[in-house]
Amino acid sequence: MIPLYGHEALRRRFRSAVDRSALPGSLLLHGPRGVGKQRLALWLGQLLLCTSEGERPCGHCQSCRYAVTLAHPDLHWFFPRPRLGDSDATADEVFDDYADAIAERVKANGLYPPTSGTEAIYVATVRALVHRAGFTPTMGARKVFVIGEAERMVPQEGADAAANAFLKLLEEPPADTTLILTSSEPGALLPTIRSRVVAVRVPRLTDADVQRFLDDPAVRDALDRAGVARSIDDRLRLAAGAPGTLLGTASDDEAFAAAKALLAAAQSDRAQQMKAAFTLGGSRARGFFSDLLDALTVLLHQRARDAATHGDRRGALRASRAIDAVQEAKLRAAGNVNPQLLGAALVRHLAEHLA
Ligand SMILES: [Zn+2]
Repeated sequence: MIPLYGHEALRRRFRSAVDRSALPGSLLLHGPRGVGKQRLALWLGQLLLCTSEGERPCGHCQSCRYAVTLAHPDLHWFFPRPRLGDSDATADEVFDDYADAIAERVKANGLYPPTSGTEAIYVATVRALVHRAGFTPTMGARKVFVIGEAERMVPQEGADAAANAFLKLLEEPPADTTLILTSSEPGALLPTIRSRVVAVRVPRLTDADVQRFLDDPAVRDALDRAGVARSIDDRLRLAAGAPGTLLGTASDDEAFAAAKALLAAAQSDRAQQMKAAFTLGGSRARGFFSDLLDALTVLLHQRARDAATHGDRRGALRASRAIDAVQEAKLRAAGNVNPQLLGAALVRHLAEHLA
């Protein structure tokens, strides 16, 4: 796993809270996509589990060594996954699935692509998590649960018991348990969850921190392989303080297909535009909308670059105005705005700038 870059102010704040035993039992780290919220949450887990007497996390004690390789039995990490089969999976099946998924993320040095539209935190996972929270810690004095992209916890029919048990856990975690949720769309979290956690905003990284991240050989390697813009200046600009967003540019991705269709519709006639807006606001998982906006941003950046390369200044300008419209939709999507309205406004703006 690559180290955590930046977020020094928050790290100081967390260290101080842990030293005073004043860290709340249930936290929500929220902030833009790709700023490293889950990485920061795992670091906080390491801090909580570190057994050193000096400055923590020390990085040397057995607990730290296990935590940085995600092998610590008391550091649990959950995030959206494909649904396991048709019927409800057992806790063992869920843990096996996560063990595989985490091994894959460790192999990729923690540089994993964004979640796809169909992945979610399904009820079987919630049930397994609650079950595990009832155990005593295996190695140390505490256990820590990191729940990434918590807005993708999907309410499912007949899952009330698991949902209620999870809310109870959030409300009053056992004294030896810390729950750390992360979300880039806190407005999309269930209100019953939001009201039970202490929210901490995770800001964008400074350019200096992004630069250090980009200089990490593992990062350079991953971005080269993914074919992300070659120059470090381009990467710095594209990252805009959220370098994790650079990792999601697989062209065959579902979100990219949808983004391309949306751009085509925005440049087509009124009927196509209305149809696109309607589809956009439809029954899709909330997380998919934010994937789509990220894909749109990447495609429009490409378009602006191509136009500029061919001396088409007007085209470049129109593409960059469209990027602004997408950024605005991103901001609004982070609040609790009706996706239907958001979709309609976005299609209208794209049509204005691109048609
Ligand atoms: Zn340590």
